[in-house]
Amino acid sequence: MFSTLHTGFSPEPCYSSKGRIRGEEKIEMGATVQVVKIEGRVLNVMREGSPKKTAHRHDGHGGGHDTDAARKETEAGRKRSKMKTFKIGILSLQGDLEEHASMMRRALDEAGISGSVVGLRRKTDVAGLDALVIPGGESTVMAKLVHLHGLEEEIKKLARLGVPIMGTCAGLVLLARSGCDEVEKTGQRLLGLIDITVERNAFGRQKESFEADIDIPVLGEEKYHGVFIRAPAIGKAGAGVKVLAEYEGKAVAAQEGNILVLAFHPELSGDLRMHEYFLKLLKDG
Ligand code: GLN
Repeated sequence: MFSTLHTGFSPEPCYSSKGRIRGEEKIEMGATVQVVKIEGRVLNVMREGSPKKTAHRHDGHGGGHDTDAARKETEAGRKRSKMKTFKIGILSLQGDLEEHASMMRRALDEAGISGSVVGLRRKTDVAGLDALVIPGGESTVMAKLVHLHGLEEEIKKLARLGVPIMGTCAGLVLLARSGCDEVEKTGQRLLGLIDITVERNAFGRQKESFEADIDIPVLGEEKYHGVFIRAPAIGKAGAGVKVLAEYEGKAVAAQEGNILVLAFHPELSGDLRMHEYFLKLLKDG
């Protein structure tokens, strides 16, 4: 089912097994129906049987499922949104971009944060970014393109300014301080923004890709559906790094300050909690 994903370099974004969807499509989300649009296209990233918990709206139109806590959180989000409109960048050189954009828009909506999701391709796109996502894809290719487009130093600058950066799968590889043999062998340049060593393809090749429900305590008690596609794992983690999740004894999610790395693909889980967690790192100032 992952055959359309990450099969090497492609100038086009890669898509989930659902592929690119054209035209209008309504997405059933719990008690509500939500249309997800990106640049005029409607995308459906919900997966059958995916958790619906985060799909309820907390704005009074969601069929009365709100808890007080959820309402308070949304009110806080609304106050925030009055203060600032956030610009979330997605590194758009290669990888699964549209799913991330779609999930990010939904997470912004859900949290009541006003924001836009934009692609980062050139140096000039960096201005005013409040957060950045480095998606999955092929880290060797992405590393070359980041260098070619002169984005290395720009991304490092964002990190130094405290801008939240989330790297998923290949994005995790790029953000790591150093890598194991697989990384050294390819000579790929890493950004070194989180104090971890990374083991590329730690769970095997494409055909060994898998899905598993994992515990991520910072997201709450409900398990999180992890989609692992030629996934890396975190080897060593420095003292300042908090490991957020493990699978089969390997660290698969970690955070150091404003840098969040995930070995899996949160944009394919249908569960907004990871994107919402990331958005909590946004700074109002
Ligand atoms: N194994 C890939 C790499 O190292 C990452 C795969 C992915 O992003 N799904 O680039």
